[in-house]
Amino acid sequence: MNELEELEREARKLEPTANERKTVREGVVNYTERFINEIETIPAFEGERKASEVFLNSPVSEEPMALPQVLSMLEKGLDEPGLNPASGGHLGYIPGGGIYYSALGDYWADITNRYAGIFFAGPGAVRMENMLIQWTAELAGYPKTAVGNLTSGGSIANLSAIVTARDSKKITSDKIKKAVIYLSAEVHHCVFKAIRIAGLGECVVRHLPLDDCYRIKPQELESLISADKQQGLIPFLVVASAGTTDTGSVDPLQAIGEIAAKHKLWFHVDAAYGGYFLLTEYGKKVLKGIELSDSFAIDPHKSLFLPYGLGMLIVKDKEALYNSHYYQANYMQDTLGANEEVSPADLSPELTKHFRGLRLWLPLKLLGLKPFRAALNEKLLLARYFYDEIQKLGFEVGPYPELSVVTYRFIPKSGDANAFNKWLMEGVQKDGRVFISSTMLDGKFMLRLAVLSFRTHKSTIDILLEQLRSLTMGK
Ligand SMILES: *Cc1c(COP(=O)(O)O)cnc(C)c1O
Repeated sequence: MNELEELEREARKLEPTANERKTVREGVVNYTERFINEIETIPAFEGERKASEVFLNSPVSEEPMALPQVLSMLEKGLDEPGLNPASGGHLGYIPGGGIYYSALGDYWADITNRYAGIFFAGPGAVRMENMLIQWTAELAGYPKTAVGNLTSGGSIANLSAIVTARDSKKITSDKIKKAVIYLSAEVHHCVFKAIRIAGLGECVVRHLPLDDCYRIKPQELESLISADKQQGLIPFLVVASAGTTDTGSVDPLQAIGEIAAKHKLWFHVDAAYGGYFLLTEYGKKVLKGIELSDSFAIDPHKSLFLPYGLGMLIVKDKEALYNSHYYQANYMQDTLGANEEVSPADLSPELTKHFRGLRLWLPLKLLGLKPFRAALNEKLLLARYFYDEIQKLGFEVGPYPELSVVTYRFIPKSGDANAFNKWLMEGVQKDGRVFISSTMLDGKFMLRLAVLSFRTHKSTIDILLEQLRSLTMGK
């Protein structure tokens, strides 16, 4: 009894008092308020400063640390070095920004610690998540019977899709070496990772020929499938991209969907980057045909501007996703029978998971869709504006931006073009007001502009244009 009392006294410190909560909350809120208020002037990239040693020098220990010291460690160790993904100046890779209300959604979700794995335990949380999945499914023209899962990101969504395709098409171990997957070399690398993790590394993987805009040529897909069937192979999956990472190109989804249906292939669309452009009239036209797919991955932490940590998988055939992911265990027997609503635990590898729905639901409710649509249309226009302006500065450009990525490079009067463009990129990064990245296209070092942060506006693009103008002057 004495031991229990003693342990309780110490253990109760895990529940801070109202005053303690207030002090820490205010410390964190003050810091994050300052961060947002200064977001337009703090650098998008800080490459000079080395990763701080503060975390390594402060091991986890028995005794607590005082708040001011903790806050200063965070400021020094976390937010000073490297890329600042919250900045509107982030124009590399695929940015998004991080909508403020998502953080408050996470705050609420963490404090109430609602369980969003099984309908029986968290009916409200599960229903909210399913409603958001349904909304996204309908946006893509999927039927009401479609199901899905809120994932940590696009990589996991693609992985679950590929596992589902494998099982649905009955690619058992005896068939793997004859099974064929069709995709473009421009597909995101997480798809190749997913193929390997799903045990499909020994499948035949065909890289489809691409047109001048780095999109799959559908006629070639059809003839490859026919030739493979004649050889006794088992074509079972085609992956298309709705927005490639390199160039933002959208594969011809309609034509690929028709061919996949004809040959009974699983058709998966990786729309991790471009999916929510479906909220725009233009995007709906470009992504036409996504409704023919069997599954798609889409990232609210990209084209809905949320902070990192939210992707989504949608699958048309409920049974297929369920068959690949459900499991029943003795200790879960109480949860059976609550079949009114599908449960995330039956449709994904996760059991206990973060209640991710609230970080999407709260901003959508508090802001409405209008500003999201406007921001997406703004990004499309900004990419086209940059595409026009950069040519006026004498740059060579890649394909016309189908969504919001532009590739471009400068050919100097003398010297190696690849080395020069690398130097250009480093010059922009060193300045740090904006951040750009690069890629290789047909052996050429290309600079990339990816406009997708909700904080990126015309003035941001003008900073980059001015930097590129001055860096290439006389070259
Ligand atoms: C970002 C991205 C992914 C990977 O998604 P994560 O959310 O980073 O895991 C997959 N495909 C495309 C086209 C992407 O842009």
